[in-house]
Amino acid sequence: MSESSAAAAEAVAARFEELYGSAPDGVWAAPGRVNLIGEHTDYNDGFVMPFALPHTAVAAVSRRDDGVLRLHSADIGGPVVELTVDGLAPESDKRWTAYPAGVVWALREAGHAVTGADVHLASTVPAGAGLSSSAALEVVVALALNDLFALGLRGWQLARLSQRAENVYVGAPVGIMDQTASACCEAGHALFLDTRDLSQRQIPFDLAAEGMRLLVVDTQVKHSHSEGEYGKRREGCEKGAALLGVDALRDVPYDDLDAALARLGDDEEVRRLVRHVVTEDHRVEQVVSLLESGDTRAIGPLLVEGHASLRDDFRVSCPELDLVVDTAVSAGALGARMTGGGFGGSAIVLVEEGDVPTITKAVEEAFAAAGFKTPRVFEAVPSAGARRVR
Ligand code: ADP
Ligand code: MG
Repeated sequence: MSESSAAAAEAVAARFEELYGSAPDGVWAAPGRVNLIGEHTDYNDGFVMPFALPHTAVAAVSRRDDGVLRLHSADIGGPVVELTVDGLAPESDKRWTAYPAGVVWALREAGHAVTGADVHLASTVPAGAGLSSSAALEVVVALALNDLFALGLRGWQLARLSQRAENVYVGAPVGIMDQTASACCEAGHALFLDTRDLSQRQIPFDLAAEGMRLLVVDTQVKHSHSEGEYGKRREGCEKGAALLGVDALRDVPYDDLDAALARLGDDEEVRRLVRHVVTEDHRVEQVVSLLESGDTRAIGPLLVEGHASLRDDFRVSCPELDLVVDTAVSAGALGARMTGGGFGGSAIVLVEEGDVPTITKAVEEAFAAAGFKTPRVFEAVPSAGARRVR
């Protein structure tokens, strides 16, 4: 454990004791994530390739056996929120507490005897930046309860239950990528995940060893229509699968794409969605084979192609994200793309180590010239997934 994460665990444990009057049973951490490639594929049973950020949600937790659930976040402040596990009901809570409470609800719904808990947490994952602060929150609580109630659940099972919490309890129709990334990623690796059966492979992704860096550019914007548009894309993909007679777009082979598009006739909207999903799944497989053969720099053009597909076919980019990608590539980046759902949030930029300052500066200057909010740029080192830290 790094010094800073040990210090974070210490601080969260100390605050827990102030709030609840005794030391926590333990402290757990779960990271946010960046998706290297494979966007809007996770609700099409397709492939994704996230890696974990060093940024984590850290939770100090004690078990309770009296049906009471108490929740507190250092980042929200205010008084402790007190609930009862019997009273938890889907979509009854519009506050942040719906994420951890949803996990308790999902565990209990699945038949696990979770009888209450005291939770205090703090997170360094920026919220709403497309870096999965919500999944970090869910997974850290799921892992803590798994340990404290000796549930014996595996990482992918905790991910499924966390997704159910977010889908049903919070009411957000998200795919399975974020929770699985937070639960299952390993340091120095990206996670090649098949979202159909959750089979996974850790792919070595140690950029520093090869003289490269990956920058995250948080545009600090979130366009307000993002939720409705996400729902429309999901529906369009389901329509495409139905028209093509497959369970999910994942079942359209890349080599049959032209024939599939021809069968969709003049439904241009659905044709575009199908083209993105099928080519994106193919790009994930290409990135996996390049990384496994040690040809890391060659993934750059695939990132740029993926961005163009999200911009032109899937239509989930925005001027800020396009500006990051265009500027970075013009300034010499190996590759760049938006990451996460789109309509704001973050982009990733793959760069040679020595180019970090010039490319960062180029992006910042381009944002200033366009009159956009100053972006937050940081380096993302592929880090560990969820774990107990104390
Ligand atoms: P993302 O997962 O991309 O960051 P979401 O909208 O899915 O964005 O999740 C953000 C929400 O998660 C916040 O609005 C808040 O309710 C909750 N959240 C994230 N981090 C924290 C935190 N440290 N404390 C309390 N709630 C948090
Ligand atoms: Mg989220």
